[in-house]
Amino acid sequence: MATLIRLFPPAPEAKTFLLNHKPTPLFSSRKPQTTPSRKSHHGIQSSKFGSFLDLKPLSKPESLDFDLSWFDPADRHRCFDVIVIGTGPAGLRLAEQVSRYGVKVCCVDPSPLSMWPNNYGVWVDEFESLGLVDCLDKTWPMTCVYIDDDKTKYLDRPYARVGRKEFKTKLLENCASNGVRFHKAKVWKVKHEEFESSIVCDDGIELRASLVVDASGFASTFTEYDKPRNHGYQIAHGILAEVDYHPFDLDKMVLMDWRDSHLGNEPCLRANNSKLPTFLYAMPFDSNLVFLEETSLVSKPLLSYMEVKNRMVARLRHLGIRVKNVIEEEKCLIPMGGPLPRIPQSVMAIGGTSGVVHPSTGYMVARTMALAPIVAGAIVECLGSTRMIRGRPLHHRVWNGLWPLERRCTREFYSFGMETLLKLDLKGTRRFFDAFFDLDPYYWQGFLSSSLSLGELLLLSFSLFRNASNPSRFDIVTKCPVPLARMVGNLAHEAI
Ligand SMILES: Cc1cc2nc3c(=O)[nH]c(=O)nc-3n(C[C@H](O)[C@H](O)[C@H](O)COP(=O)(O)OP(=O)(O)OC[C@H]3O[C@@H](n4cnc5c(N)ncnc54)[C@H](O)[C@@H]3O)c2cc1C
Repeated sequence: MATLIRLFPPAPEAKTFLLNHKPTPLFSSRKPQTTPSRKSHHGIQSSKFGSFLDLKPLSKPESLDFDLSWFDPADRHRCFDVIVIGTGPAGLRLAEQVSRYGVKVCCVDPSPLSMWPNNYGVWVDEFESLGLVDCLDKTWPMTCVYIDDDKTKYLDRPYARVGRKEFKTKLLENCASNGVRFHKAKVWKVKHEEFESSIVCDDGIELRASLVVDASGFASTFTEYDKPRNHGYQIAHGILAEVDYHPFDLDKMVLMDWRDSHLGNEPCLRANNSKLPTFLYAMPFDSNLVFLEETSLVSKPLLSYMEVKNRMVARLRHLGIRVKNVIEEEKCLIPMGGPLPRIPQSVMAIGGTSGVVHPSTGYMVARTMALAPIVAGAIVECLGSTRMIRGRPLHHRVWNGLWPLERRCTREFYSFGMETLLKLDLKGTRRFFDAFFDLDPYYWQGFLSSSLSLGELLLLSFSLFRNASNPSRFDIVTKCPVPLARMVGNLAHEAI
């Protein structure tokens, strides 16, 4: 995040036992590392249960045991077709897809075999259509949304947690069998000439390629922007926790819990939450293991991280959830919306740094998995065996492969969604999601998966307005004109 700072250190990585869901023996034989204290956290008193904020995560970083084909520094041949910076989901997927066609690829990352730190949630149908369903380690047949204490919506769309180990292993295996080389280093600098680019690594090694792809995540400084980066942020605090009890049905994933009754005795938190609401996202694995995340869907300026944690303490206490052990902690900061990178430019981008994160939800993984083959196709057209298109025509084609006009226009619409959400308080947000999840599932599902065309998005808006309650229509009419005008202006700019 050029301004795109990853404010927090990466969360500890999962242990294999977690991915296999066999935690019990470890829990029962292991003492918590820190005893819950009664310390107060910015006004929140720990309950008789203590606060989970005092608990240290039990999991330790884990590496995959996998035989990669390493770049040999003694090798005088340091030129590839494509260099991919970063082996997150985006970088590995692109490397996997490009290398299928015999294009020579080298991936560079300080730790290519480390387990990814984030807990990824996806809709099952998205991974099914990509042939990646074997990478899901837990699925829920339904999801639910608590609008308030009196209203809950049950959504007939299965949700899943991605098995990070299975997913990364699969991508690495495919890369390995396609001959992708790996280099363990941090890239310091990317340099461009007319037909070639090169990278300089922190170990002094310099590698050259026809194309450098930046997949180094939100904090990248290699991809350039020519407009101010006025994005919103999703901020969240998550824990994978061993608990005595939790109130959630095991066959339903809680996509959003907007209830605020837990703030009844916290007037200050309640007032803030009414203006800048947060919700709980919960994945119940079994009756004693649950992933819980207090989330600010989008805020600008950024909601304070401590505030998010304090609201979570109050919520868990109200729900009677006593955290015995924090197994993993997830500190989440996702920049959303804002301008796209300059198109085209000499470095190609994919993943967090390329603008593909959904501006209204923060989701990105499934979409990147679907877009990487398209970008790979454009690269192969230029650098594959029969053609040799390099320099500006190459950059032009790959960037337009990722961001053709139609996709840029639909992104404007999703950004409009984000700008609208930014203007809603708790009541407005509840009314919005109440109407949103009453839409024909084709529309709300398509919106969340970024799969609707511009025409469909317009139909969605009309339908949303028609379904909305009168106060919600009032919200739309009074709060949307400025974001709407901005969107229309941007669409016009794109179309010229
Ligand atoms: C906590 C969290 C939870 C999320 N949960 C979800 C979710 O549930 N569902 C969803 O769809 N999206 C989610 N996202 C959003 C998004 O999908 C993730 O951020 C995703 O990891 C982005 O993938 P990426 O490959 O672009 O970048 P990253 O996963 O950030 O990977 C970047 C890689 O680049 C490497 N790198 C960085 N700098 C350099 C350098 N200079 N040289 C070499 N290598 C470098 C890093 O070591 C890392 O391996 C989440 C994001 C966060 C932060």
